[in-house]
Amino acid sequence: MATTDVFFMARCPHCGEVILHRQVSVFAIQGKGSMFLSCSCGFLLAVIAPQGQKHYAVEVWSDCCEEPHRFIFTLGQLLKNNLALSCSRTDVHLGYLGDRESILAEVIETDVLSLTEGVSLWDFFADIQVMTAVLKKCYRLLAAGKVQCHGCGADIDVRIYRDRVGIHCPYCGNGGYLPAAKEQDSLLMEQAEGLILEKEGINIVYGNMMK
Ligand SMILES: [Zn+2]
Ligand SMILES: [Zn+2]
Ligand SMILES: [Zn+2]
Repeated sequence: MATTDVFFMARCPHCGEVILHRQVSVFAIQGKGSMFLSCSCGFLLAVIAPQGQKHYAVEVWSDCCEEPHRFIFTLGQLLKNNLALSCSRTDVHLGYLGDRESILAEVIETDVLSLTEGVSLWDFFADIQVMTAVLKKCYRLLAAGKVQCHGCGADIDVRIYRDRVGIHCPYCGNGGYLPAAKEQDSLLMEQAEGLILEKEGINIVYGNMMK
């Protein structure tokens, strides 16, 4: 089955701590004329709009420039590729756009912390290896469709702190925090089969209990 969804992943430059994951269908973009992607703090990060018959214009805001960064892609590029967006003036990595599977695979394989640029990584985290392991596992579960809000869809906001990872649903606010400071925190995640975002927090699912 061909996918008709475009996946967007970027760090919010305004609050600085949220990494957005948004999946939008091209039909929704065409239907609405343009699609606005905002952080839960209210900052507008990106707009995707049809441009003529065959192209899509993407504008992405970041703190490197006052103007939005503008890109033009074909539908085929948006649906099949893993497009790393960067600022042509400063080379700042703005985020990813394109096919969800290849983007998540790229992030897991190359550098799960690449979107946390801006915090000086080595002194920031309580234990960078534990943080990397917990994040990698989160992204593996996300790629497998096993991070679910109890009430809504699959999109999530991830917040990365010194010693924990926050995962929340952008629509209803369900979610909570996964500790990521001690070795036992990564061992706990190693066994996890899925994450369900509840009002009271994150329910870590073990065994084959996930649909
Ligand atoms: Zn924000
Ligand atoms: Zn820029
Ligand atoms: Zn929700």
